[in-house]
Formats: sequence, structure tokens, C-alpha cells
Amino acid sequence: MNIEDIQKLSTIETPAYVVDTRLLEKNLKLLREVQDKSGCKILLALKGFSMHQAFPLVGNYLEGITSSSLFEARLGYEYMGKEVHIYAPAYKDSEIDEIMSYCGHMVFNSVAQYHKFRDKALDLGIECGIRINPEYSEVETEIYDPCATNSRLGTTLQNLEDADLEGLSGLHFHTMCEQNSDTLERTLKVVEEKFSHLFDKIKWINFGGGHHITRPNYDVEKLINIIKKFKEKYNLEVYLEPGEAIALNTGYLVAEVLDIVKNNMNIAILDTSAACHMPDVLEMPYRPEIENGFLSSEKEYTYRLAGHTCLAGDVIGDYSFEKPLKVGDKLIFKDMAHYTMVKNNTFNGVNLPSIMVMDDNDITLVKSFNFDDYKSRLS
Ligand SMILES: *Cc1c(COP(=O)(O)O)cnc(C)c1O
Repeated sequence: MNIEDIQKLSTIETPAYVVDTRLLEKNLKLLREVQDKSGCKILLALKGFSMHQAFPLVGNYLEGITSSSLFEARLGYEYMGKEVHIYAPAYKDSEIDEIMSYCGHMVFNSVAQYHKFRDKALDLGIECGIRINPEYSEVETEIYDPCATNSRLGTTLQNLEDADLEGLSGLHFHTMCEQNSDTLERTLKVVEEKFSHLFDKIKWINFGGGHHITRPNYDVEKLINIIKKFKEKYNLEVYLEPGEAIALNTGYLVAEVLDIVKNNMNIAILDTSAACHMPDVLEMPYRPEIENGFLSSEKEYTYRLAGHTCLAGDVIGDYSFEKPLKVGDKLIFKDMAHYTMVKNNTFNGVNLPSIMVMDDNDITLVKSFNFDDYKSRLS
């Protein structure tokens, strides 16, 4: 980060998520290039990043959004207004009409769900797909592995056999998580082996999300070549629907040191919380990077950084610094635009971080939260 941005971020009211629209646009430009060179269409998966203030910008580069619920579908329809896709493990009768009023493409998780809603969808001109489970993935963390034993996500080849697929226009698989294009290549090989007998019956195939396209060592050329080859071979429209790759490395969570306590080591209590504001730190789990923060003991002053909730395990991690921390210091957690705002919560009555955007000129407040936001969900 350049020194000016660090200084600007150190003056804001905390806690706050700050999305740098310059970095977001840089990601979007790369994703546009992938689409232009490969002929695929890329959708934003709202599950990872739903900050609708940025949807007009995203819509300048991507073809639309994909959703996994009624609310996400509606958000994409109302705030971007391009293609709206949906996939959910199952749809509710009470929501299906409204969902269908927003979506041009619907992916069903099972043949039974497809049969249940097929006539209604086809009458409305909605293109229907089925999510397949190729029973091949390279995801090592069990809770992120859609192909784990007994997974409910997607229909296996065995469960597709002899199924009536009349009216179907697409297939969908989502088996990747933060992976490179070599994983896609190996996955696609399995998908072709198992499911290519269906490819002449459909118009499109969706390769899901988990493509880490915008990270520095991602092999973009390989991805482009894989898609081009696939499209030439089967004459299918190809969709990708990454979430994380859109907002990867485009934002921060800025927090302030509230107190420093000692119990064998120095512990800094912050005005943010792993449990409330960056739940993936506990769930994945992973260690976020901090501007000017280093591995424990790498520099002279080491602190355990912890949240201000009452959960004993609300700990972000141990970090060292070149100078001692003091009350009132600001800390800048990196890569906090995706899977944060969409997952945060007000556990312990802790307020939600504000949402801000940053560009060449300034940092602007988009939204702040208050007692009513907290209260309104509780009675
Ligand atoms: C989570 C998810 C995505 C987006 O995944 P990322 O890892 O954020 O790219 C896309 N499609 C489906 C079906 C998903 O469940």
C-alpha cells in the first residue's frame, strides 16, 4: 500500500470496511479480458460480495450475477439489472414465483426439483439447468468440499441415469475453492468423461466459482485456452461464476486498539471482532494480513490481536510490529472485501462496521449502522 492511502485510512471512524474501487476495477478489467479472449461469460456470485453500491461498476465489466436465494436474486435484479442466475440446494414453494420473476436462468440441485418446477419455468422462458456432482474435487477443507462423502450438492451421474431431461438447457458444476486453472483442467476432464453424452442436448454449461483468477500467480492463459478448446469441441456457451475473484485484495477492515492487557503476553483488544466482522478467520480458519504487521516474534513487539466480544476464542492471531502498539492506533486488515460484509453479524450487540469506498480522491462513507439495525432483527 502506498503511504498516502495508509495515512488516509488511519483517519477514518472505525471499525469500517473500505473497498478501493481502483483495485476492484483492476480485477474487473482482468475478468473482462478473460471473457473477451475466451468467449465465456462471467457472473458475480453474490454469496461472496454483495455490496450493491458497486454493482453499476461490476455491471460495466461482467454479464450479470448469480444468486443462491430469493433475496440475492432480487438484489442482483434491482441493482445490476443484467443476467440473473440462481442455484439453490432446494427452492421453497412460497418463494418460487418471485424468484422466477427475477431470474433468466435457474439451476436445480436434483432431478426431482427440476421436474417439480420445470413447467412453470419453461412457460416463463427461463432457461433451466441441473447441478451435477462430478464426484471429483481438490478441496481439502471438508466444509468447503461440495464433493465430500454424502454431499447434498449436485446430482451424481448415477442419479441422472434414465432421468427425463426434456426441456433442459444447461449443466452446472461447482467443485472448486480458491484454486488455479490446473484444477479446472483436471476437473473438466472428469466432467467430460462422465457427462459429455448430455452435451448435445444442452446450450450452456456453468463451471461454477472458486476460480482464483485475480490472484497474482493464477494462470490466466491456461484458463482462456481451456475455455476456448471446450467451446470449440462442444459448441456450448460457458459461464463462470466466481465470487471471491471479483473482490479479491480490493478492501480493508480498519480497526482501532481499545486496550492492551497482559497475560503471559501482550494482548491488544480491538474495536472489531473475528466472530462478528471477519467470521472466516475462525471458520476457515485463516490468518489475515495486516499492513505493517509481521509474523509473531518476527519483529520486536508481538501482540495477540483480539476482538471486543465476550467469546474467549474471539482472537484474530498473533502479530509482531516494529513499534509498540498503543491505545488509539489504527490497524489495517487486508483483503476484507469478500466474505465479510455478507457474513457479519451483531453477536454480543456489537455494531457492524461502516462501509466506505476509497478512490484517488477520497474515502467516502457509503453506509453506517446503528442500534435500530441491531434491534430490528431481534423482535
Ligand atoms: C460459493 C459459490 C460460488 C462462488 O465461489 P467463490 O469461491 O467465491 O468463487 C459460485 N457458485 C456456487 C454454486 C457457489 O456455491
